[in-house]
Amino acid sequence: MYRFGGYLLDRRKLSTDIRKVYDVVVIGGGHAGTEACAAAARMGARTLLVTHKKETIGEMSCNPSFGGIGKGHLVREVDALDGVCGRCCDVSGVQYKVLNRRRGPAVWGPRAQIDRSLYKEAVQKELFKIPNLEVMCQPVEDLIINQNDIYANSNSNVRCDGVILQDGSRIESKCVVITTGTFLRGQINIGLDIRPAGRIGDEPAIGLAKSLEALEFRMSRLRTGTPPRIKSSSINFKVLEAHYGDNPPVPFSFMNDSVLLKPSEQLPCHLTYTGEAVNKIVHETLHCNRHVTEEVTGPRYCPSIESKILRFGNKPHQIWLEPEGFNSDITYPNGISCTMPEEHQIRLVRTIHGLENAEIVRPGYGVSYDFIDPRELYQTLETKKIANLFLAGQINGTTGYEEAAGQGILAGANAAAKCLNREPLTASRTEGYIGVLIDDLTTLGTSEPYRMFTSRAEFRLILRPDNADLRLTEKGYKIGLVSNERFNKMTSVRSKLQEGISLLKSISKPSNEWRVLLKRPVSKSSVMKSAFDMIAIPSDGISCDDLANILPEPLGWLRDHPHVADRIKIEALYEHAIGEQAKEVEEVRKDEQLKIPVNIDYFEKSLSLSNEEREKLTMIQPQTIAAASRIQGVTPSTIVRLLRFVKQTH
Ligand code: FAD
Repeated sequence: MYRFGGYLLDRRKLSTDIRKVYDVVVIGGGHAGTEACAAAARMGARTLLVTHKKETIGEMSCNPSFGGIGKGHLVREVDALDGVCGRCCDVSGVQYKVLNRRRGPAVWGPRAQIDRSLYKEAVQKELFKIPNLEVMCQPVEDLIINQNDIYANSNSNVRCDGVILQDGSRIESKCVVITTGTFLRGQINIGLDIRPAGRIGDEPAIGLAKSLEALEFRMSRLRTGTPPRIKSSSINFKVLEAHYGDNPPVPFSFMNDSVLLKPSEQLPCHLTYTGEAVNKIVHETLHCNRHVTEEVTGPRYCPSIESKILRFGNKPHQIWLEPEGFNSDITYPNGISCTMPEEHQIRLVRTIHGLENAEIVRPGYGVSYDFIDPRELYQTLETKKIANLFLAGQINGTTGYEEAAGQGILAGANAAAKCLNREPLTASRTEGYIGVLIDDLTTLGTSEPYRMFTSRAEFRLILRPDNADLRLTEKGYKIGLVSNERFNKMTSVRSKLQEGISLLKSISKPSNEWRVLLKRPVSKSSVMKSAFDMIAIPSDGISCDDLANILPEPLGWLRDHPHVADRIKIEALYEHAIGEQAKEVEEVRKDEQLKIPVNIDYFEKSLSLSNEEREKLTMIQPQTIAAASRIQGVTPSTIVRLLRFVKQTH
């Protein structure tokens, strides 16, 4: 028995019951935990999920939706590694829509409104059928920590050997993954009322927070919030703008050609706005709104209505009214997360167009919780301090189901890989948004809830939602994370893509000949263009189908493979730009030590900085281009502009 920091390491005396030994124990059945335990078990590790309640496994604590810009990429990547969330979304959506269609496919955001109950049901069904995965419902209070005598692949001489439950019993395991979300010393706030809770209706995790603190992890507090829920039958939808899903809906999973729902069965969302009265109520109630006035870092990217009004003043803010499910009479008003006392929330909601008679079924609330500085982690998500202990999800300072799922699958796979003596799974910034997320967290840390955006990725022309399988499936397959079925599907798609691209590149004609054949106003010149070049120009709008119509002999097969044809078109659209991007990356790499003058004017128009970038660059005053490029929220394209600006003007 000895001490690590103030922590008593040999806890054997605390319990008498030593339970059977697992390879991996995952704590928490949220979005990180479900992916982590499924991943570990898929790889063949004897896995146990310990969570508070069976009925909250797969619970969506906040918004009834998955995906979106940046987040949709993460779901696709988790799916490419055989994760559960994409497939579950495909059977539980009430509406599917790809966001950002006006921009290029690299930044399209697959998104779905989800039926909460169906999603949970689908996740639980997936987990309960995995053979070597067991589930236990009990709070984990503590960790079993021992000295690391001779343990392979570890830099730390202290290791985690399992967990101790609330009833004092011990469960030994080779690795532990903690995915406790907002539960570590969680407190919820409504008005001036503070209650200990991980989220409404759930106990916080106090014991585990104390254990992590005693182990001397760098910990801090973050907060987030959720809006009141409204009884759908009390909303006057007739006066509101309805928005419908895509026809046909695009599935998340590479294993599915379509979603379960028929296009016509999709439910609409409705749009409304805040008005002047909301502004007034927010200001009037600040004195009784502890969550907003207290100095704890809140979510910049999913702000409460109070923060939006305090930061951006009185302008109409959008509110999306999102159905919570097919058989639910509850609507989620996305955009008015708030923490004022309940009676004022009712007043606020009723000032909004269409919600004049709205009834609130559950008030909005804020939650503040402990998180661990993610710089305490290796890229495998194992902690540097305690070997065999992995952390994933909101505990690492992120927000969002997708960010949690991306970390969960990686942590679960790495915990299993460590037990089974396999290669670890890491993703670089050039391989996936999961790589960007984990690299940002583990190298830069975070001081506010971290959310994924496409602008965080330098290589977003390569990291597209359409090609996540090509980027990651083989990698997962090599360590046993991905099934044969998925791997075979990916390799068959990959061969068809390669075959199609080579074929299109091999067919060349002068532009004026293409013009006649295609009956399109393309260039009249005699410059030779390949069929691949012909589909690469977005404004020409030429598809593989158009080419197959004029050249049925070599290209007719593309008509039988519409998904492959769509993907070839995307590859063509980006081929040139990817080459240009590689040049920019090289340009920055070559001059990354270039000094930024102290008198630089970040308000200079030609720099075209966003408010966030201007704010951060002005505050941090990076000395070099390399230092500027490491600031979270400063995009790679800004770095290129900054570099050129410094070179031209100084
Ligand atoms: P969770 O999904 O929270 O899962 C944690 C799991 O751990 C739970 O199953 C819990 O029962 C279990 N657990 C905790 N402690 C223990 C223990 N000691 N023993 C056993 N089991 C334990 N995301 C957004 O993108 N935008 C938002 O606006 C947003 N607002 C939110 C508002 C609120 C009030 C809350 C609670 C969450 C919000 N989220 C939001 C975050 C989103 O819900 C999380 O990012 C996501 O669920 C995190 O996934 P996770 O797996 O890390 O944790």
